[in-house]
Amino acid sequence: MKIGVLALQGDFALHARALARLGVGVVEVRKPAELNAVGGLIIPGGESTTLLHLMQEWEFFPALEKFHAGGRPLYGTCAGCIVLAREVERPRQFSLGLIDVTVERNAYGRQRESFEAPGVATLDGERTAMEMVFIRAPRITRVGPGVETLARHGNDAVLVRQGTVLVGTFHPELTEDTAVHGYFCRMVEASR
Ligand code: GLN
Repeated sequence: MKIGVLALQGDFALHARALARLGVGVVEVRKPAELNAVGGLIIPGGESTTLLHLMQEWEFFPALEKFHAGGRPLYGTCAGCIVLAREVERPRQFSLGLIDVTVERNAYGRQRESFEAPGVATLDGERTAMEMVFIRAPRITRVGPGVETLARHGNDAVLVRQGTVLVGTFHPELTEDTAVHGYFCRMVEASR
């Protein structure tokens, strides 16, 4: 089983490193055809407007819809979360709508552009404390009825899942904690 990391923009290299640490084969995906070689895909953080631009240029939208319809899991962090959400606010922008959440971009304001904070995750029934890094992070302001909240920072849902789609507003690839990547690998394993 190999997992792809969308390598158009943003911190894809750190996701690749986290997967490598778990002993998982990684493919840096730069063209839609490269999706054929992977069982799941991580869409990294970066700048969602730039990411959307590049995704359109390289014709990733229909390819990702097909990838999703075929049952292969997706994990979006930060900008990746914004791109996968059903609805994006402040400002409104196009998104793939593959998970029923609303996100507000850059929601933590100037004082707290980037911060590290403790949070709690429940992954496969296992409750664990986790250091979470937020960088100009979006906030999940609405979680649809079919969406499961897996982690919180204070009252905010920061890691949520609907079926084969996982999205988070923090960056686990920036810490040594591979719990979220491990969880995504199990989603990919289970989808086969
Ligand atoms: N603020 C960025 C955006 O709106 C996301 C930041 C990130 O991915 N770290 O696209």
